[in-house]
Amino acid sequence: MLEKFERYPLTFGPTPIERLDRLGKHLGDKVEIYAKREDCNSGLAFGGNKLRKLEYIVPDAIASDADTLVTIGGVQSNHTRMVAAVAAKIGMKCLLVQESWVPHDDAVYDRVGNILLSRIMGAEVRLVDEGFDIGIRRSWEKALYEVKARGGRPYAIPAGASVHKYGGLGYVGFAEEVRAQEKQLGFAFDYIVVCTVTGSTHGGMLVGFAKDGRHRNVIGIDASATPAKTKAQVLGIAQHTAMLVDLGTELVEEDVVLLEDYAYPRYGVPSEETKEAIRLCARLEGMITDPVYEGKSMQGMMDLVQRGFFPDGSRVLYAHLGGAPAINGYGYTFRNG
Ligand code: PLP
Repeated sequence: MLEKFERYPLTFGPTPIERLDRLGKHLGDKVEIYAKREDCNSGLAFGGNKLRKLEYIVPDAIASDADTLVTIGGVQSNHTRMVAAVAAKIGMKCLLVQESWVPHDDAVYDRVGNILLSRIMGAEVRLVDEGFDIGIRRSWEKALYEVKARGGRPYAIPAGASVHKYGGLGYVGFAEEVRAQEKQLGFAFDYIVVCTVTGSTHGGMLVGFAKDGRHRNVIGIDASATPAKTKAQVLGIAQHTAMLVDLGTELVEEDVVLLEDYAYPRYGVPSEETKEAIRLCARLEGMITDPVYEGKSMQGMMDLVQRGFFPDGSRVLYAHLGGAPAINGYGYTFRNG
C-alpha cells in the first residue's frame, strides 16, 4: 500500500512482538496478550511511535529545502523529543513549542525526561503558558512566522505529527508489518489495542487493517480526555490516508472504536487505576509504561480483559508506542512505590 511513497529510514526495522505471559495468567488466562514493541523501534533518543510517522514526513521536509523543523507539544511531549532527534540526525535546526498541557507539582517536571533530552539534542525549546488542545495552535503558527522573520526556512510538523498530509502513512505500514509477522507466527491477532490522542497512530492503523477487514477490531483507548475531538481527528486522518493509498473502502464514524473510560481525571494526569496498571505491568513483565499514554491504554486493556470484552481465547496485540522518558517527571506520583 505504501510503495509509491518515499520513506526516510529512522527505525531499526520491524519491531518485535512478544507474548506477555505472566500478565495474561494474572488476568485469568482467558486471552493471549502480546505486545508489539514500538517503544524499542530506533536508536534515536529512545524511539517511539512518532518515528514511523516521521519516516514519511522527512522526505517532504528535505524536498522543501527547509532548514528548521518546527513542532509543538506539552512540556513532557514525546513527539517533540522525537522531532529534536530527527532534526539532529538529518542536520536541521529544531524549534519546539512546549505548552503547559499538564498541571503538575513535580519540581523537576520541565527539566527532566523528554524536555531534557530535547535540550541536549540542541533543539530550541520555548515554554508557552497555554493549556491542552490537540488542534492547530497560535503559538505554533507564531513560531513558524518567527523562524521566517529571522531568515530561516521552517518546516511545519503539527502536534503528534498527526494532521499532516502524510501523518497517517506510518501506521498503515505498522499493519502491513503485523500481517507479515502473523505469517511467520502462524496465527492472526483478533484485536489491536492502541493509545489514542492526536489520532494518526489509530487513523493509520484503521486504513492498514481495513485491507483485511479488521479495522473495527482496532480498539483505541482515549488518553486525551477530549474524546469527541480526538475521534473526529482520527476519522479525518483515516479518510485522508485511505484516499492517499487508494484503499477503495470508505471509512465511516462507526469504524473508529474509541473507548473513553480510562483518560480520567485529565490528559497527562494518572488516576489511581492507571498507576496500578503501570506497577502491575512493570512487576509482572518488566515493561515500562508511562502515566500520560501507555499507562492508560494498559489500564484499559487490563480492564477489558477482566470484563470479558474480548471473547475467550482471543489473541490481543497491545501496541506499545513508547513514552517511558516522561516518567522522570512523575517522581512524586510514585514516591510511595
Ligand atoms: N503513546 C505515546 C507514548 C505517545 O507519545 C503518543 C503521542 O501522542 C500516543 C501514544 C498517542 O498517539 P497519537 O497522538 O498518534 O494518537
